[in-house]
Amino acid sequence: MCGFVGIVGLDQVAPAIALGLQSIQHRGQDAAGIGTFEGGYFHLHKDLGMVTTALPRKVVAEELPGRSGIGHVRYPTQGNSERGDAQPFLTRRPGILLAHNGNVTNMEELQTDLLARGWHVLSKCDSEPILLVLADALNRLKPTGHTEDEVADAVRSVMQKVKGSYSVVATMHVDGKETMLAFRDPHGIRPAVFGRRKDGSWICASESVALDVLGFQREGFVDAGEMILFREGEEPVRRMVLPKEVKHCVFERIYFARPDSMMEDGRVNSLRGRLGRRLAKEWQAKGFEADVVVAIPDTSRPAAFAIAETLGIPHREGFIKNRYSGRTFIMPDQTTRDAALRLKLNPIREIFEGKRVVLIDDSVVRGSTMRRIAAMVKDLAPSEVHLLIFSPPVKHPCYYGIDMPSEDELIAAGKDREEIEAELAEAFHVDSVTYLSLDGLREVSGTNMCSACFDGDYVVPVTNSERSYILQDRRSC
Ligand code: SF4
Repeated sequence: MCGFVGIVGLDQVAPAIALGLQSIQHRGQDAAGIGTFEGGYFHLHKDLGMVTTALPRKVVAEELPGRSGIGHVRYPTQGNSERGDAQPFLTRRPGILLAHNGNVTNMEELQTDLLARGWHVLSKCDSEPILLVLADALNRLKPTGHTEDEVADAVRSVMQKVKGSYSVVATMHVDGKETMLAFRDPHGIRPAVFGRRKDGSWICASESVALDVLGFQREGFVDAGEMILFREGEEPVRRMVLPKEVKHCVFERIYFARPDSMMEDGRVNSLRGRLGRRLAKEWQAKGFEADVVVAIPDTSRPAAFAIAETLGIPHREGFIKNRYSGRTFIMPDQTTRDAALRLKLNPIREIFEGKRVVLIDDSVVRGSTMRRIAAMVKDLAPSEVHLLIFSPPVKHPCYYGIDMPSEDELIAAGKDREEIEAELAEAFHVDSVTYLSLDGLREVSGTNMCSACFDGDYVVPVTNSERSYILQDRRSC
């Protein structure tokens, strides 16, 4: 997963972009970059690390001039991170700076196709083929001086060739003007929101929290299959290029996005609350009762509040999260592995001792962290422990940009809900485990959501060879 911020129309965009990137740092901590456009020249700086490390203040203030630019944060990947995979990417003919969030599923096909046309893909990042397909389509029309219509044709060509999920921002000349280009894959899987300031500047970002932080008024969302051109002091040019069935990622709302971000279906915080209320009713229907609700921080707090309200019992902070622990070393034995977990998440004994506790979490993927949390809680002598998960069992990998393991590592793969609930209750030594039902998820979130990791219904078909390529090489954004 990754995040982007693009701005056009400020005196110097780079410092504002850097701040915007910090507001969406949760979307990627592996690498960060900013590219700006000034009088026909591009300036680009990208490096490994979080925003404040990868983008030193002096570089942002002095080496990235320009009134338009884009920035990007990249998610930690498996294996070694490489500076060459950091975004944005730049092409010279025509001059385009581009960054994206998503996961291209037909990388190998695109690479072969691009090579046959003389374009070498130099990185393992899937933004580069998107950029090269766009540049190739524009070059076929003419080398420079592209118009709005020509850019729309080239973006259509990208949407026809590039499979998977992608929300894209780019900066380039269109009709001879510095222009920020944004487009979203035909199903709108990954988010993209835009806004304006009264001074005539425009922003497009992965999450609306970047708009809030920088004082932009939210104007709307880039629609599925839509392309928007933003220019300083002008109304945006919106073109519907290749729209298909809308399928936004529901997992963004459950787990990934910040709760204060706004999506098409409302505030993320409020959706988590609605999922919690629905789950509380499903759990109550099993005939259980409890004394206290405790969220496993941080994502599950809004759902835990709503569950406590619905059940008419208190919600208490039972865990203190250490924000400064960072990545812990790989621990050689169980004792030090437990210590590493407690370094990150330490429970408060009095909240649990002698109580019937309802523990809330967003999802269970492999089950290893949950197993250790459950063991930690059991050591505090609660009278009962009930684990409530406000999403259905994750049974299938995501091929559209959320970093999930292959099916054989997913603890719920191939099992129905009742079966996995019983199995986990026994394995974690807790009194019950309750997942939100798929019907419950659909009723709360609506049907225009991708929920393939829960139901296996992939809106963009993924071939077997594409699946193994993605799972072997989790370097997408
Ligand atoms: S498969 Fe799951 S995580 Fe991936 S896009 Fe769909 S809902 Fe989101």
